[in-house]
Amino acid sequence: MSNQQIKRVFAENVAQNFDAYGFSRRDFMKFCTAITVTMGLPFSMSKMIAKTIEDPVRPPVIWLHFQECTGCTESLLRATHPKVETLVLDLISLDYSETLNVAAGYQVEKALHDSMEKNKGKYILVVEGSIPVKDDGIYCKIAGKTALESVKEVGANCAAAIAIGSCASWGGVQSTFSNPTGATPLHKILTDKPIVNIPGCPPSPYNFLSTVLYYLTLGKLPELDSKGRPKFGYGRLIHEHCERRPHFDAGRFALQFGDDGHRQGYCLYKLGCKGPETYANCPSILFGDVGSGAWPVGTGHPCFGCTEEGVGFTKHVHEQAEVKTFTPGSIYPDIHSEKKGGITVAGAAVTAGAVVVGAKLVSDVSKKLGENDSKDSSNQA
Ligand code: SF4
Repeated sequence: MSNQQIKRVFAENVAQNFDAYGFSRRDFMKFCTAITVTMGLPFSMSKMIAKTIEDPVRPPVIWLHFQECTGCTESLLRATHPKVETLVLDLISLDYSETLNVAAGYQVEKALHDSMEKNKGKYILVVEGSIPVKDDGIYCKIAGKTALESVKEVGANCAAAIAIGSCASWGGVQSTFSNPTGATPLHKILTDKPIVNIPGCPPSPYNFLSTVLYYLTLGKLPELDSKGRPKFGYGRLIHEHCERRPHFDAGRFALQFGDDGHRQGYCLYKLGCKGPETYANCPSILFGDVGSGAWPVGTGHPCFGCTEEGVGFTKHVHEQAEVKTFTPGSIYPDIHSEKKGGITVAGAAVTAGAVVVGAKLVSDVSKKLGENDSKDSSNQA
């Protein structure tokens, strides 16, 4: 079968699968557009994203589980419209995953080593869970190897790695004082590979999927912040796009669970909400595809700060957050008001812009006039 034929058969397969999964081509394109927007890419790139998903060449992925609760995988499997796990499984070749493997024992270990050998330097390593390093890492062993040995062995020949969830990104719950197992994040062990952190407990499956799609479509990792998180998902404070923010600005707070303010949906800052110091897109992207309000603050619980190192699992649950951004007070000058004896900043900008445009127009007109003048004089001569 030629490559073209394979592509056609695969595309037909994907199309049939869309029907089987209960979503149409239109739904699929809507999904591609939403993912494109999530990544902060222009709308026009949604066609490229769709093409990537339909590409029959699926990159190999090895998914390792260490110290964790498997909530990240569960979150991924629970997403719908379309079912993310279906798209992920159609999109990548998941060669090894301790949770999703059908095979077990020697058979599955062979699959792992076969994939590592065959795809040397090309596979994506996904790590879920922290890696215990205390006492030579004896607190987590799989197939006779410690997590530390496994991650070094599999990580040595990966193209890039994704740390999914707070545990793999910065230690998570296991790293809470006194960190008895020496729980360590992936980036502190695998230091010579590009690593993307997708923290969250659980993380948004869309942030993970968008990262994978970005890598497959553009052949590079998305822009990361100083903590290795994709800026498209973790570029803004939760506090900046929380639906309760107007109550914060107005000074309306819930003071106890179940009090009048809590029942009226007031701001949860005084109950320990860590939104003001936590970067994530939870209020915009939500969880479980069930509609508005499906995130901790939306259900009446303060943000726990799980995507932020040094906040979630570190600060006390009801400790008040450090507020990084305040609403500017009314004492700030109004940009529209006129200043004595002069013009406002905005006015100056408009004037400056008009000057530039005007100068350009003048220069174009002068050029034109000059050309006409020289034509006239040559005609007269
Ligand atoms: Fe929302 Fe929490 Fe900020 Fe209040 S403190 S506005 S509940 S993120």
